Amino acid sequence: MVDVRGVHKSFGPLEVLRGVDLQVRTGEVTVILGPSGSGKSTLLRSINHLEKLNRGYISIDGELIGYRRAGSKLHELKEREVLRQRTHIGFVFQNFNLFPHLTVLDNIIEAPVSALRRPRQEAVQQAERLLARVGLADKADAYPRQLSGGQQQRVAIARALALEPKVLLFDEPTSALDPELVGEVLDVIKDLARTGTTMIVVTHEVGFAREVADTVVFMDGGVVVEQGPPSEVLDRPRHERTRAFLSKVL
Ligand code: ATP
Ligand code: MG
Repeated sequence: MVDVRGVHKSFGPLEVLRGVDLQVRTGEVTVILGPSGSGKSTLLRSINHLEKLNRGYISIDGELIGYRRAGSKLHELKEREVLRQRTHIGFVFQNFNLFPHLTVLDNIIEAPVSALRRPRQEAVQQAERLLARVGLADKADAYPRQLSGGQQQRVAIARALALEPKVLLFDEPTSALDPELVGEVLDVIKDLARTGTTMIVVTHEVGFAREVADTVVFMDGGVVVEQGPPSEVLDRPRHERTRAFLSKVL
């Protein structure tokens, strides 16, 4: 389970997260919706400890992320420890972020071989299985620039899965794609949802949220305004701010 408790984050005078609480159960999909600037990316980055927190804490399966507790204080972990924790947290970005100079296969095996010290042959076999799963079995030797955006994003998902993460974080995984390529990426994420992958997905795709989310979270102004099953948050929102947002995106 991912447990976000009372998280505050400021950039200088700008308070971006103002006490966020969020619990994501193992095997469930949480979709985060909210207007631009509401703190969605900052929250995802905090879960991966790409941001230091000003207050509160985040834990995954009971392990504090980025910190260790000493009495009543939290001390930041050493970079090496943070990197170890990040190997259990998959992150898929809007702009794919593949290594341009590596083939698809090498993109996928890089972290398992260098960070997890898996034998290369084993990592290659796993990468081939993952490529088949995202429908790209024939692209192992291609370079990212030879692929469409949708294909690149599917490789990025395979790469994240190669670390067998406890949770997979997606930050607007389809918003850089041409409209006709959105479906193929969402289909891969839907398939992962069916097989019980724990995921937190920031997206503006409300139809996807309705279909796939166990929980929909609406964020605004650095707080969770409301959360619940899609049938409640999307169809019977309780808060005016949620209604106003949905009326714009639906
Ligand atoms: P979008 O839907 O546009 O992606 P978001 O909900 O993901 O928005 P964030 O990227 O989390 O929003 O940003 C929240 C606020 O924090 C914004 O006002 C942004 O300008 C600010 N912010 C984010 N990162 C930094 C940073 N490193 N330094 C200063 N301000 C930042
Ligand atoms: Mg964002």
